[in-house]
Amino acid sequence: MPSFKEFIKDVDSPPLSLVRWVVHIVFLRMSAVCPICLGQIEHLTKLDPCFHAFCFNCITQWAKVSARCPLCVRPIVAFLHDIDLASRSFKRILVPLSSFLGKFF
Ligand SMILES: [Zn+2]
Ligand SMILES: [Zn+2]
Repeated sequence: MPSFKEFIKDVDSPPLSLVRWVVHIVFLRMSAVCPICLGQIEHLTKLDPCFHAFCFNCITQWAKVSARCPLCVRPIVAFLHDIDLASRSFKRILVPLSSFLGKFF
């Protein structure tokens, strides 16, 4: 597992969004507490575009009620799931807007 600095060095001129993403990952590894259940985060899921982190179960339950991040109230566009820092891969699950219609307005 490379350190944060090694990881950044490894990427040529990383775009700001990537740096921000990695900083959030590193921060999260130090304090992996879910803001919804206040427990250890299980199945880490981040929100696009705000990068706040939650348990997969917590945020998908939340998303049935609100299409906005519970922390910063920005609209949720997608969930970033199965984040693997080593291979720098993740799944991006688009939030189906239709599931919010009628609950939101
Ligand atoms: Zn949780
Ligand atoms: Zn947020």
